[in-house]
Amino acid sequence: MAVDSTLLNTMRVAKETVVAIEYTLKDDQGNIIDASGERGPMEYLHGAQNIIPGLEQGVEGLVAGDTKNVLVPPQLGYGEYSEKLLQLVPLTDFGAKTPQVGMRFHAETNLGMRVLTIKKIDGEEVTLDGNHELAGKTLHFDIKVVSVRAAEPTELAHGHPHQSGGCCGGGGCGSGEASGGGCCSTEEGSEGGCCSTEEPATAQKQGGCGSGGCGCS
Ligand SMILES: [Zn+2]
Repeated sequence: MAVDSTLLNTMRVAKETVVAIEYTLKDDQGNIIDASGERGPMEYLHGAQNIIPGLEQGVEGLVAGDTKNVLVPPQLGYGEYSEKLLQLVPLTDFGAKTPQVGMRFHAETNLGMRVLTIKKIDGEEVTLDGNHELAGKTLHFDIKVVSVRAAEPTELAHGHPHQSGGCCGGGGCGSGEASGGGCCSTEEGSEGGCCSTEEPATAQKQGGCGSGGCGCS
């Protein structure tokens, strides 16, 4: 018979738990791409697709205090790099703005709202890249599980963890997916309002109220 882990206060990461992890993300060459660092641990609702699938699988079954190296191939991370996500637009589309290579912006595409990066400017033609900047990359996470707790019913209903401090508590409700209701409506547009448009932490697949917590109850 299995030991009842809750009695030992060593709840394991499983569906319907809220997990906080510290992480450092490196590429194949060992360059640090992102780290929880000063932002503090990243909290997410396990099993709710808050984070990329490969990382979620890697954390499954761990307990607070555990450390692990998690290798995430592109197909379980940000996807393979797709040439289909490149598109050419005329320079005139930018109006008075001067586009520069590397510039990023949100735009509505036939795949929904995406971050587009200006990849190339060739005369009057601008190449936009809709791939995630980490598409095609194998991700090396060094993680440490900080805490694991059972999710509250409202968290399960909203599909993200709640923290004190309200929606504006520190940033990053992301954009898009969370707008179907709940605390992170983007109705008021991307500037100001409750939800910062800062990019969510790298490991977070989509917005949600991840790092900022939200005021909805
Ligand atoms: Zn919420």
